[in-house]
Amino acid sequence: MKQIAIIGGGLSGLVTARLLQKTAQVTVFEKSPGCGGRMATRFANPFIFDHGTQFFKARSNDFQTFLDPLIKQGVIQRWDANFSEIKNGVVSKKIIWSNHEPHYVGYPNMNSLGLYLSESLTCISKTHIKSIDQNRFSKWTLTDTAGVRYDNFDWVIVSTPAKQSAELLPSHCQFYHQLPQECMKGCFTIMLGFTDSLNLPYDAAIIHDPMLSWISLNHTKPGRLTSPALVIHSTNDWAEFHLNNDITQVHSQLTHHIQDILGINTKTAACNIIHRWRYANCQKHDSEKLFIDHNLKLAACGDWCIQGRVEAAFLSGLKTANAIKQSL
Ligand SMILES: Cc1cc2nc3c(=O)[nH]c(=O)nc-3n(C[C@H](O)[C@H](O)[C@H](O)COP(=O)(O)OP(=O)(O)OC[C@H]3O[C@@H](n4cnc5c(N)ncnc54)[C@H](O)[C@@H]3O)c2cc1C
Repeated sequence: MKQIAIIGGGLSGLVTARLLQKTAQVTVFEKSPGCGGRMATRFANPFIFDHGTQFFKARSNDFQTFLDPLIKQGVIQRWDANFSEIKNGVVSKKIIWSNHEPHYVGYPNMNSLGLYLSESLTCISKTHIKSIDQNRFSKWTLTDTAGVRYDNFDWVIVSTPAKQSAELLPSHCQFYHQLPQECMKGCFTIMLGFTDSLNLPYDAAIIHDPMLSWISLNHTKPGRLTSPALVIHSTNDWAEFHLNNDITQVHSQLTHHIQDILGINTKTAACNIIHRWRYANCQKHDSEKLFIDHNLKLAACGDWCIQGRVEAAFLSGLKTANAIKQSL
């Protein structure tokens, strides 16, 4: 059996791994303690926050077919949120999501999907791959940041955000210069936990503002039986501009702005955490891209091949696995 290394245990890497594991021996390398990537959950006892992906939709048959058994098993559930828009501090345009296409979340937390998908895979976590090298027998060796080597791979598939993929792949790889390295933008996420209820008139809202883009009441998602836990995202443009600023300053700026724009008394929060996403989101490309070098046996996949969405990560993994499967 061919040996395949997948670098990155986000949804795209996990989907690729599961599709290839019937025809090859697959190992997933993930730098974090658990799989799931940006479908992430932060535990700050007693509060729980999905601080990356908020929800996802299935617009393609392929993604819906993938989700159906997971919905049956309860790993995915619908979030029928009371959704609003906020502009100049005014809450408007209220709709209940149940009347529209389903909005899905991981159950009981957003990271549950990654954990579930990784169960049947060989995943080596807490392992940050630093370099990949090919020997004279055309086999690939991966080396992690602690200097540990993992040898003898026929294929390497990199499923990290575009810029991190370019840092790992050799520049003579066929598709190297087509990688959209600058396509991804950052985001800051503020997580606020309260011991008392807040009486906000929505479960989730888009915010029209130069600094803030989104708020959700995480505890209103199915299965989140916690005290009020708010997740608030900055806009990607504001984050890009402040990405390398002192994080304490950014935290304070955003906290003040939340109080001004959303009228939430942040001083009463029992928990106030910030997370910096360097590679959060990317715009939709004109065409869906596939990055495979069949000579070197290297590939790259991820949401950034299509659009910064969970469904795009799935489709990129699916297409990459199908294209490689034919040549194994
Ligand atoms: C703040 C935020 C909000 C979002 N909201 C939504 C939303 O509401 N709806 C939606 O559809 N999408 C949303 N998204 C986008 C969605 O999360 C992504 O599209 C999807 O999770 C991407 O999956 P992926 O596998 O392509 O990449 P990732 O999830 O980024 O996976 C890459 C993995 O590679 C690992 N890794 C990186 N470098 C290395 C290395 N050198 N060695 C080992 N491991 C490595 C990382 O730790 C990570 O686990 C959001 C993202 C963010 C950040």
